[in-house]
Amino acid sequence: MILHNPIDMHLHIRQGTMLQKVLPWSADYFSSAVIMPNITPPVTSLQRVQEYKQEILACKDNFTPLLDVFLQKFTKEEIEQLKPHIFAMKFYPDGITTNSNSGINGIEEIYPTLELLAQYNIPLSIHGETNASVLEREREFAKVYEKLAQDFPNLTIIMEHISTKELANLATKYDNLLATVTLHHLLLSIDDLCGGALNVHYFCKPTVKLASDKEALGELVKSGHKNVMFGSDSAPHPLKNKFKGAAGIFSAPVILPKLAEFFDGDWDTFQKFISTNAIENFNLEFTPKKVEIVEDEWVVPRMIGEVVPIFAGERLPFSVKVVDEID
Ligand SMILES: [Zn+2]
Repeated sequence: MILHNPIDMHLHIRQGTMLQKVLPWSADYFSSAVIMPNITPPVTSLQRVQEYKQEILACKDNFTPLLDVFLQKFTKEEIEQLKPHIFAMKFYPDGITTNSNSGINGIEEIYPTLELLAQYNIPLSIHGETNASVLEREREFAKVYEKLAQDFPNLTIIMEHISTKELANLATKYDNLLATVTLHHLLLSIDDLCGGALNVHYFCKPTVKLASDKEALGELVKSGHKNVMFGSDSAPHPLKNKFKGAAGIFSAPVILPKLAEFFDGDWDTFQKFISTNAIENFNLEFTPKKVEIVEDEWVVPRMIGEVVPIFAGERLPFSVKVVDEID
């Protein structure tokens, strides 16, 4: 099966030697990826966007990085300058709380900036969790997403790495409220994480949820709905930090083989989820790439640099080959 132009709509590749080790696992097989800004110092300005893009392209130039910048109270002039260089603004709503009367504290503070984003057609990317209990914090954030979608009908909002049936339902409700789904939220539930022995390589935020949430996400993705796009949230940490509790799953090496298993022959929907929906939603430009999924067993490496990938050491039924770009 041939896949055209895989795109990862949510990727962490870090920096320095870690970037050198992990980026090829995305850049060799994907045409493009949306790169998250949580590096040191963080990507908060045009200068940081340009420096980070240079570091990425110096490592791999056969790949189109789309950069996010952290949402701040930018002026109109700053937004005009950033616009040609970024894909979206990333928002971690620290301190957002809600109550049962559907009051939302704090969100209006960013409304003037959101008006500018809508005006300049810059997407808003959100890690949607409140400070509620761990299994509830994304469910509780649903009302914030709905309020934003209604208050800003001209702003494209991306619900990142959705992990619950509540957000799976919400993902098809508004034209301006899109969603990314990871591989691990499609394959794992909390029982895999800690039902038996704790598996630190399955620990991420938002945490994997109940089997019923996983089923709802699977149905959503298999519907092929245009609002739903693949975003790995692949987030490598050195092994020693995983044992200190670092949240993040390094999934980049296994994405295409494992999704091939998940789609089980429904290649049309696979193509939409991994590429077409994102390209059409955002008119993306990217490095053309064709990859072939072949029924050739492949064993996931046990370590990549200092990082243990998800499913390390497991034998997978599919592997991936890059096809010559000329037909
Ligand atoms: Zn992330």
